[in-house]
Amino acid sequence: MYQDVILDHYKNPHGRGLRDGDAEVHHVNPTCGDEITLRVRLAGEKIEDVSYEGQGCSISQASASVLNELLVGKELAEAQRIQETFLELMQSKGRIEPDDAMEEVLEDAVAFAGVSKYPARVKCALLSWMAWKDATAKALSEGKTA
Ligand code: ZN
Repeated sequence: MYQDVILDHYKNPHGRGLRDGDAEVHHVNPTCGDEITLRVRLAGEKIEDVSYEGQGCSISQASASVLNELLVGKELAEAQRIQETFLELMQSKGRIEPDDAMEEVLEDAVAFAGVSKYPARVKCALLSWMAWKDATAKALSEGKTA
């Protein structure tokens, strides 16, 4: 079932394509060959858009789609909480079994729980999330949100 969620996001990615943004970053995962270019657009404390272009394995690309679906329209503080929860799950080495509370925060992102057992794939799943964090910090430091 979880596998289907990942595959579905891979085949029908949400919000793919580069649009206007306040900051852009390019991240690569050399161990797998995944790449992502990601832009964020902020309106004050709100995430107006996360747009991206990428290539690589289904996990890395599906993860970017899930990120777009989860974070666009959210306040930064909430998005940060989602990112931290996802990071915690992905670093759990398969020890965390997502409960209802976690599923409520992560929605489709809980589908990556099984991936956390495979250290090499964890980097694939986290690629776009690290890019988002980096791009957001860049956008904030450039003061484009004022
Ligand atoms: Zn990968």
